[in-house]
Amino acid sequence: MEQTGTVYLVGAGPGDPELLTLRAARLLQSASLIVHDGLVDPAILAMARPDATLISVAKKRSKHTLPQDQINALLVREARAGRDVVRLKGGDPFVFGRGGEEMEDCYVAGVPVEVVPGISAANGAAAAAQIALTHRDSASIVSFVAGQCKGLNDQNWAGLAGPGRTLVIYMGVKTAPQIAEKLMEDGLTPDMPVAVIENAARPEMRVLRGPLAALPDLVEREKVISPALIVIGEVTARANNAVAQVAMEAAQ
Ligand code: SAH
Repeated sequence: MEQTGTVYLVGAGPGDPELLTLRAARLLQSASLIVHDGLVDPAILAMARPDATLISVAKKRSKHTLPQDQINALLVREARAGRDVVRLKGGDPFVFGRGGEEMEDCYVAGVPVEVVPGISAANGAAAAAQIALTHRDSASIVSFVAGQCKGLNDQNWAGLAGPGRTLVIYMGVKTAPQIAEKLMEDGLTPDMPVAVIENAARPEMRVLRGPLAALPDLVEREKVISPALIVIGEVTARANNAVAQVAMEAAQ
């Protein structure tokens, strides 16, 4: 019988290949089989060996090319056939990445797993947009939430956003109107500063800013597309952001 292969759950970061960890880059360059998400930047996939097999299990919102259980089964099948599998995921595998589910199914099947962390979109976007998520004068709490999942209205975000806190919302573009409404119902003032960071850490990045009440309009008017993050909090409006914005525009 073949020796069981290992499944490497690897974070690919937000886009820029320079933001891969050395370990991720090494695994990517040596792998013969890579199973990747749609979010993984083509520039990163281009680092794979020319003879590597690349399998895309791209997910589109509410339309899964491969359902999650079939992705898990694919990983298990390949590893049991003796192949090492690099399972490449956008950002970090354990931040809204379903890495936990894949790891558990591998464990149940007796397949060894190694996890390589990646720079999550929140960190990549904050760096690229020069938003200090926990600037000491503005925030001592930062939370990551999913803006598009079942029962958004039932999720309790109370206390996660407001003065002294930063809230980072993943997958929130489509639900921006409900998000703004929900946060204002929770007591946030309509003028709470917000930033939307589209395609963070990629050449086509956009950083848009405005007050919370105008978030739905901003997203619609600017035709914000996925992937994008919404960041809520005073840190998004600090003066140095304005300086960074000017510098970025001048550099373009
Ligand atoms: N595991 C990933 C998140 C997967 S959920 C991570 O740790 O980053 C997918 C969501 O991540 C997208 O809807 C978007 O909100 C966010 N995202 C991923 N890459 C992004 C990027 N380059 N710029 C902005 N948002 C991004």
